[in-house]
Amino acid sequence: AKDEGGNRYEYYSAEVNQAATERMEIEQRLRRALENDELYLEYQPLIDLNSGKVCTVEALLRWNNPTLGQIPPSRFIPLAEATGLILPIGDWVIREALTQLSQWEQQGLNDFKLSVNISPRQFSNPTLSRTIAEQLQSHEISGDRLELEVTENLLMRNQQETKKTLNQLRELGISLALDDFGTGYSSLSYLKSFPFDTLKIDRCFIKDLLEHPQDQALVNATLTLADGLGLNTVGEGVETAEQRDYLLQHGLKVAQGYLYSRPLSPEQLENFLRQTTSG
Ligand code: C2E
Ligand code: CA
Ligand code: CA
Ligand code: CA
Repeated sequence: AKDEGGNRYEYYSAEVNQAATERMEIEQRLRRALENDELYLEYQPLIDLNSGKVCTVEALLRWNNPTLGQIPPSRFIPLAEATGLILPIGDWVIREALTQLSQWEQQGLNDFKLSVNISPRQFSNPTLSRTIAEQLQSHEISGDRLELEVTENLLMRNQQETKKTLNQLRELGISLALDDFGTGYSSLSYLKSFPFDTLKIDRCFIKDLLEHPQDQALVNATLTLADGLGLNTVGEGVETAEQRDYLLQHGLKVAQGYLYSRPLSPEQLENFLRQTTSG
C-alpha cells in the first residue's frame, strides 16, 4: 500500500510538473506575443431587444501563436493577470479598440457603443483613466461611445481608490458595466455605492435557463433588482430563441450570444451592421 501511494504521488507530481512546464511555456510566449503581433481583437454585437438593433459591440481578445496555435482567453488571461502582463496587454487592447472605433466612426458607423474588458489589475495602475482619456482625445472619440466592463472581484479590493477611478471614468462620459454578475464574491450593497450603468448576467445562469427553475429565480430576481436600481441589463450567452423569449418576457433589455452572432472580425462586423440596419 505504501508503494502504491508513492507511485501515485510520483504520478501526480509528474502531472503537476507538466502543467507547470506548460504554463511557463505559455508565459514565455505570451511575453513576446505583443511585439510579435500575435494578438488581435474580435467584436461581438449586443442586441437591444426592443429595437432589434446593435447597441454595443464587445471587444474580445484573441491570441494566435505560430507554435501553440489559437489559445483561448480562459487560458492566457488568468496567466496575464497573475504575471502583470495584463498591464501592457490591457493598454494595447484599449489602443487597438479605440483605433478600430475611430475607423468605424469615419465610415459613419457611429450608433453603438464599444465595450472593453478591464481586469482588476489594470485598476491598480493609477494612470488607467489618464491613458483612456488620452486615447479618446487622440482619436477624437467622445467618451460616451465607450463602455468598460469590470468584474465584481474588483470591487472587493481597495474600495476608495476603485470608486475614485470609476468616477473619473464616468466624468469622461464613459459607461460602466458590471460583468459576470452573480459569479463573484461581491455584495449587493456594492450596486448602490459604485456608479454602474449596466449589469451583465453571466452565461452560467442563462445556459440551462429553461430547464432549471433555480436559474429562472436568480435571473428574475436580478432583472427586478436592476430595474429597481435603474440599471440596464445584458444577458450573456443567449443561444436559443426560447432563451431570448423568456428573457424578453422577464424584462431583459439587451442580449449577447450565438443566437445573434459569434465574435467577428472588423470586416464581418461591418457586414453584420449593414444587414441589421437595412433589414
Ligand atoms: P466575458 O467578458 O464574459 O465575455 C463573454 C464570453 O462569452 C466570450 O468568450 C464570448 O465569446 C462568449 N460568448 C458570447 N456569446 C456566447 C454564446 O452564445 N455561447 C457561448 N458558449 N459563449 C458565448 P471569450 O471571448 O472566450 O472570452 C472569455 C473571457 O476572457 C471573457 O469573458 C473575459 O473575461 C476575458 N477577456 C476577453 N477579452 C478580454 C480583454 O480584452 N481583457 C480582459 N481583461 N479580459 C478579456
Ligand atoms: Ca465581458
Ligand atoms: Ca461571462
Ligand atoms: Ca481594420
